[in-house]
Amino acid sequence: MERSLLKPFLTVVILMTLSVIALAFTVDVKLDFIPGVKMELPDDVSGWHGNQLKFCHNPELCARDYKDASFYYNDLEIPDICPDCGSSLFNMARAEKEQLPDDTEFVKSAYTNEAGTRVFTSIVLSGTARDSIHRPQRCLKGQGNSLDGEYDLMVPIEGRDPLTVRVIKTSRTFRTAEGPKPYYSYYAYWFVGQDRETPSHYSRMFWIAWDRVVRSTANRWAYIAVQGEREAEGTEYETDIIDFVQNMYPHVLSETMREKAYGE
Ligand SMILES: [Zn+2]
Repeated sequence: MERSLLKPFLTVVILMTLSVIALAFTVDVKLDFIPGVKMELPDDVSGWHGNQLKFCHNPELCARDYKDASFYYNDLEIPDICPDCGSSLFNMARAEKEQLPDDTEFVKSAYTNEAGTRVFTSIVLSGTARDSIHRPQRCLKGQGNSLDGEYDLMVPIEGRDPLTVRVIKTSRTFRTAEGPKPYYSYYAYWFVGQDRETPSHYSRMFWIAWDRVVRSTANRWAYIAVQGEREAEGTEYETDIIDFVQNMYPHVLSETMREKAYGE
C-alpha cells in the first residue's frame, strides 16, 4: 500500500476497533465524577470585571414563551431571587434547563474591561447520566445566526503550551425601529475532560471512546465558551479573546487538569 494511504487507513482501522470494543464493554465503564474544571467563574480576572448571569424560569411571567429573563448577580438585592416575580433564579436559561439532562451544570458571566468591551463566558459541564454537550455550530444556527467561517486560534498562556481555541465568526440581522441592523459576533470555545483539552468536537468524541476502552472510565466533559461582538471586517476581536482567555484560564481548572496543563 502507498505510504500516503497507509496512515488514514490505519486510523480508520484503529477507530473501528475502538468503537467495537467500546460497544462491547460499555457496561464495565467506571464513572469518574471529578471534572477538569471548577464550576465557578471568578468575580474579576486581570483587566476584566465580571458579573454572573442568573435566569428566571417562571413560565407564566418572566420566562413566558421561553423569553430570556436574565439578571446580573451584582444588581440583585436578594441573591438568587427574581426581582420581578420572586421565583428562585437559575444559572441557565429555561430552555437549556428543560432540554438538557438534570445533572448538567452551568455557569455564565459577563466581563467588561476598561475600554468598555464586553465578553460573555460560560462553562457547561456534562452530566453523568449521558453526554449533554452538542456541537456549538448546531446551537448557533438554531439560535438564528449565520456562520461566517471558523478556524483555530492559539492563545499563549504563561507557564504552558499555547491553548488552542476554535473560533466561529457569526452574524445576524436584528429588526429595529430604524430598520434592519446587522450584528457581527464571534464564538470561541474549547472542551475540557478530566485531564484533556481540545478545541475539536471530533477529537472529544475520540477521547470519550478511547477513555472508555483503554482506561475503562467515563468522565464529565466541560465546554468553555467566550463570545462577543466584532467588526464586520478584520480580526481585532482576536485581541479580546486572547487577553480574556489568558487571564481567566488559570482560574477555572480543577487540580487534576491544572497539574496536567502546567506539567506540575
Ligand atoms: Zn421572575
